[in-house]
Amino acid sequence: MIFDKLLELFSNDLAIDLGTANTLVYLKGKGIVSNEPSVVAVQHIPGQKTRLIAVGQQAREMVGRTPESIKAIRPLRDGVIADFEAAQKMIEHFIKKSSNKRSFIRPRVIISVPLEITEVEKRAVRESAEAAGARKVYLIEETMCAAIGSGIEVNRPSGNMVVDIGGGTTGIAVIALSGIVVSKSIKVGGDKMDEAIQQWLRRNHNIVIGYRTAEELKKKFSSHPAISNARKVQMKVTGRNNVSGVPSMLRIDEEEIGDALEETINQIVDAILQTLERTPPELSADVFESGIMLAGGGSLLRGLSNRIEEKTGIQIKRAEQPLDCVVMGSGKALEDIDLLNSVSI
Ligand code: ADP
Ligand code: MG
Repeated sequence: MIFDKLLELFSNDLAIDLGTANTLVYLKGKGIVSNEPSVVAVQHIPGQKTRLIAVGQQAREMVGRTPESIKAIRPLRDGVIADFEAAQKMIEHFIKKSSNKRSFIRPRVIISVPLEITEVEKRAVRESAEAAGARKVYLIEETMCAAIGSGIEVNRPSGNMVVDIGGGTTGIAVIALSGIVVSKSIKVGGDKMDEAIQQWLRRNHNIVIGYRTAEELKKKFSSHPAISNARKVQMKVTGRNNVSGVPSMLRIDEEEIGDALEETINQIVDAILQTLERTPPELSADVFESGIMLAGGGSLLRGLSNRIEEKTGIQIKRAEQPLDCVVMGSGKALEDIDLLNSVSI
């Protein structure tokens, strides 16, 4: 008991959810210790080495506002590692930031990775964690982590479907006996919703907004109470008028946001239907029984679960903490060695 406490004090093991939008870190015995946007700001001056300026929240605030020599990069934007160097810098930063400073034992690190990650990308992720001081690196697919984190018992023979709607991608997986039986990943998620809102406003109202404004609008839409028929809820948008070139303010109906997002939502629904078609019948019956679990920040979009339920005829559940459930799942694996061995790839 005392020995356990001592070990805990020096435990340094980490689980990292390397998301396209957000990176979360879980420290064994402690819980989530870091939650920041997956953004890196680097400065490149010709003839000199690229310099790391900022990571996470600080880097995100620089997006769209930086002088030419500084670039804010989202290294994982579409679910693949678009910029290896930036991704490595980011992984190193978060490991160093979250490590237990009092520990002299090098940490074991679990990193959850996208469904369709290539061998080259896996190696890059491993090497970055090792460069940051990891003693041993484990990789787990993030939809598997989302399943564990949302409370699904993944080692049972019965099948479960998880849909993880992140920033850059949506990952869909049917899981049974600690393995992924069928899966599909599409490059559609929260980012595409933001882009759809931007396009819609430009086309229909001649107003140009930045992607952060679009994201805020989307989140506001999500948290609004249901539209009552008596009164339409209106939302304020400020942007640049595409004709006059000056900043202007506009009120739009909440329903318009729904229209803007229609196509993106349909793409997610179609991908779920395609995955269901490829699911073996026994598991398909299980999914019908147990329902579909939604995870990821995109699952907070209002109306989404209703739409999926309508189109699939299957009951939809949402993870209690959709933004945290991937890292909570890998955190659980960090605390349970049998689980870790059965799900790591
Ligand atoms: P990733 O795993 O790819 O990093 P996350 O699961 O962290 O992605 O989800 C990030 C996405 O969720 C972003 O596109 C963000 O705009 C979106 N999001 C967060 N909160 C909400 C909300 N309340 N309504 C709709 N979308 C949301
Ligand atoms: Mg994620």
